[in-house]
Amino acid sequence: MKEALLYEKLAHEMVHCHLCPHECVIPEGKTGYCGVRKNVEGSLYALTYGKVISIAIDPIEKKPLNHFYPGASAFSIGTFGCNMRCQHCQNWEISHRGATEDGDQLRKLSPEQAVAMAKERNCEVIAYTYNEPSIWFEYILDTSKLARKEGLFNVLVTSGMINPPALKTLLNFTDSYRLDIKGFTEEFYQRLTGSAVLAQVLENALIAFEAGAHIEIITNIIPNWNDSDEQLDGLSRWIVDNLGPDIPWHVTRYHPYCKLREPTTPVETLDRAREIGFKNGLRYIYVGNVPGHPGQNTLCPGCGKTLIDRTGFAIGVNHIVRGCCEFCGCKIGHFRGPDIPIKHHTTPFPEYIL
Ligand SMILES: [Zn+2]
Repeated sequence: MKEALLYEKLAHEMVHCHLCPHECVIPEGKTGYCGVRKNVEGSLYALTYGKVISIAIDPIEKKPLNHFYPGASAFSIGTFGCNMRCQHCQNWEISHRGATEDGDQLRKLSPEQAVAMAKERNCEVIAYTYNEPSIWFEYILDTSKLARKEGLFNVLVTSGMINPPALKTLLNFTDSYRLDIKGFTEEFYQRLTGSAVLAQVLENALIAFEAGAHIEIITNIIPNWNDSDEQLDGLSRWIVDNLGPDIPWHVTRYHPYCKLREPTTPVETLDRAREIGFKNGLRYIYVGNVPGHPGQNTLCPGCGKTLIDRTGFAIGVNHIVRGCCEFCGCKIGHFRGPDIPIKHHTTPFPEYIL
């Protein structure tokens, strides 16, 4: 078992975990809120270190990341546990359970094995995804360090539920921070996720931005929960004012999963979210989970031409050359990619390994 970082020992074999805003004080024999950090005889252990439940090679567009090495293949790994309890979680079967249950379903994958496997499969990126990576802290830290040494990029697909010291440590080795900002009121966060942590999530976005990570924001738009003009206006305005107009914002269609039973989001709602975001100055707003929607494409903010067209997770043309529009030379802000037109996907569809 791997001893956890970022905790302190208290009297009577209690421990205090400082990894995330829950700040769990954990009695002997118990796990924290996340279900994957356990107090064993007065020491805290990271039960999921080196253990994964899912491995896949995903198109980077599935994260979704549209401005970070389009066409790249992301070696994607995830495990059990989460420090939120979102009522609409798509991955609740793995995220809403602890490592103590079904522990033997988990496959062993050391940081060395993860990096070797990603390289063998010609992936440019390792993505920590499917469940909340924050609570996989020790494993991600070790794997990211090694991955970077081997020339791979690291992507955190996260809800941002982590304390700043832990985040800053991970950011030393993180290239892209794909952040979920789920809504724009604390009341909404409390009701949907079980934790009123909007302020912390926003602070973490700033920390990642200041650390120089590539950032893309995603919001799953849920009817009657976060689809009001006020929330969409507040959130898009916050992004523009604090991170700038070039940060991509993905507004995605909600489908009923897990406990939440609202109807599927109408496409008009996503179009309205986009309109509000554009009005506030955002330049790149993408529509997700609506196959064939033109809002999947990257348009030049200068000349309006289509620079990257996407069908599902596959990219067709790519007219971004050295970070600029091939037609008018306009710089495409907050874009990372190679200096030549980017290759098409080697994996236009996810390939499931585990
Ligand atoms: Zn242009």
